[in-house]
This record gives sequence, C-alpha cells and structure tokens, in this order.
Amino acid sequence: MNATLSIVIPVYNEEAGLQHLYDRLYPALDQLRRRYEVLFVDDGSTDRSVALLREQFQRRPDSTRVIVLARNAGQHMAILAGFAQSRGDYVITLDADLQNPPEEIAKIVASMDDGADYVGTVRARRHDVYWRKAASRLMNRVRERTTQIRISDQGCMLRGYHRNIVDAINRCLEVSTFVPALGYTFARYPVEIEVEHAERKAGQSKYSLYRLIRLNFDLMTGFSVAPLQFFTMAGTALALLSLLGVLGLAIRRLIVGPEAEGVFTLFGIAFFLIGVLLIGLGVVGEYVGRIYEQVRQRPRYTIAAVLEEDESTQAQPQQQRSERYVGGAE
Ligand code: UDP
Ligand code: MG
Repeated sequence: MNATLSIVIPVYNEEAGLQHLYDRLYPALDQLRRRYEVLFVDDGSTDRSVALLREQFQRRPDSTRVIVLARNAGQHMAILAGFAQSRGDYVITLDADLQNPPEEIAKIVASMDDGADYVGTVRARRHDVYWRKAASRLMNRVRERTTQIRISDQGCMLRGYHRNIVDAINRCLEVSTFVPALGYTFARYPVEIEVEHAERKAGQSKYSLYRLIRLNFDLMTGFSVAPLQFFTMAGTALALLSLLGVLGLAIRRLIVGPEAEGVFTLFGIAFFLIGVLLIGLGVVGEYVGRIYEQVRQRPRYTIAAVLEEDESTQAQPQQQRSERYVGGAE
C-alpha cells in the first residue's frame, strides 16, 4: 500500500494566484497515483482567498480540506495548524505563489519512499530580488554558526516530513518557531535534494524586510542560545582587558604621574562599550520576550472554520460535506 500524502499550503491574500496553483497542483498530484489531501490553511486573508478556497473545496471535496484561521498568525503558525489537521503518511509543505513548482513533489515522495524521514531542499536557480538573496546568504551563515542545524537553504519551504516527524512537531507548543528547522531536529534520516524555483506567479511577497528580520530572530532564538553565550564571553574578555588597562594606568601614575590628556579616547571607548551593552540587552530581550509569550500560554492560532468531508462518510458513495465552525484554538 502506497503511502498517502498531505500537501499543506499556507495562504495569505493570494487571490491573484490561487487558480494558477490549482491548475498545476492537482494534475501533478494525480500523476503520482496515490491518495492525497490538499490542506489549504488560510492565514487570516483579507481578500477573496477564502471564497476561492471554498469554491475549490466544493469542486474537489474528496481531496481538498480548508482550514480558515481567524486572524493572521504568520506563515509558520499556519503550517503548524495544517500539520495538526493532516492525516497523510507524508506531509509536504508548499508555498501558494507557485515559487515552488508542484511538479517537484514527485522527487520528494521518491526520496521518502527510499527511507528519508525529512526531505530538505535547495533551490537550484533562485528567482528572487537581489536584496532577498543577499539577506538569505547572510542569515544562512549566522544560523550555521549559532545553531546545530545543518540545512543549506533554510528559506525553501517545499519540503517533506514523515508522519513521525509531524507527530513530534505537533507535540511542541512553541509560540514562535521555524518549521523546517524544527522538523530537522527530529529527523533520523534527513536528506537534501535540489528543486527548481520560480518567480512569484501573481501578487506580491508577504514579507517586508522587517518581518523577515523578525522571522530570522525566531529561527536563531528558537534553536540556539549562542547569542546569549556570545555576550557572556565577550563581556568577560572586555572586563579583563579594561582591568589590564586600569592596572597600566595605575603603574603609569606611579612612574610618570597622572594623565589628563586622552579624555576623548576614553569617551570613544566608553560609547563603544555602551553600544555593545545595548546590543547585549537587546539580545537578552529577544529571549525574554519569547519566554514571556510562552508562559502566557495564549493560543498560537485560532481556527474560525474547517471545510472538509466527514471522515466517517468518506468511504460511502453518498458523500456529505461538512463545514465545522469551531472556536478551536491552539
Ligand atoms: N504566508 C502566510 N502568512 C503570512 C505570510 C505569508 O500564510 O503571514 C504564506 C503566503 O501566502 C505564501 C507563503 O506563506 O503561500 C510564502 O509567502 P511569500 O511568497 O510572500 O514569501 P516569500 O516567497 O517572499 O519568501
Ligand atoms: Mg513566495
């Protein structure tokens, strides 16, 4: 019996591109000749996305499920909402804007059939604007230095996760996270393959520079305390150095006498140290803020509605469609 598939797709204001996505995704999946479900997670869209997803659910109720989040919770939380509802043996994530070609899903499935429980991907020819690529290169490097996570291309969201990994992820209650990295930490047989990448089909990127920076802080603070350790180490080194400096000055005072010159040098050094201190405080703040969010234990996302066929009636010829309105929150 072939493994079944769940395709999880976060959707945030993607009305312009959804039809293109359906047109390529469903044929690509049909070709695999397996049971599959496409799980769209609407991440609080304010355009016609929900209406379009509902239409698609009515057209393909046997293979489509839609989760509507009450508010925008962010791409990674939307994916987690999809993971929690997914039923397939292999769960594959994909962007809604067709930057990840659906035809590449076959490669991921093949790798998982060969035994991989986590399939990471590297974008062969990345089609993004210049500053995005430069920022990604920088962040890849920072992440490599600060965490134990060995993935070459953290940004590519076209990835495969085995049911075991998804179950492990579902047990995590983190309020801020980075799904590919979280999955990787549970993987026993991770592999990496190359996939194609395309320009956004329609609409615009949902990530501003600011949101991108926030996301990368999630990645770094979520998987490493190295930034905190860096400040303890650097602080210790600076304290030792200034101790040496003070000793030097004291000896000089005994031999040459007191010095009045060089006040501005002193200011310069002091301001530099204050700057370092402020950065350190900020880094601590990034962690404290997340700890605060975690201890409040507010739901990470709230589900407004789930559009799906009743599981109990799925095998029967006369199928019933259901629209559950749930106040579900997680
Ligand atoms: N997305 C989401 N919630 C958000 C931002 C983005 O669900 O708050 C979805 C978006 O609809 C898309 C995917 O995440 O399917 C990737 O977003 P986008 O293409 O804007 O990011 P980029 O490709 O520029 O990194
Ligand atoms: Mg995109």
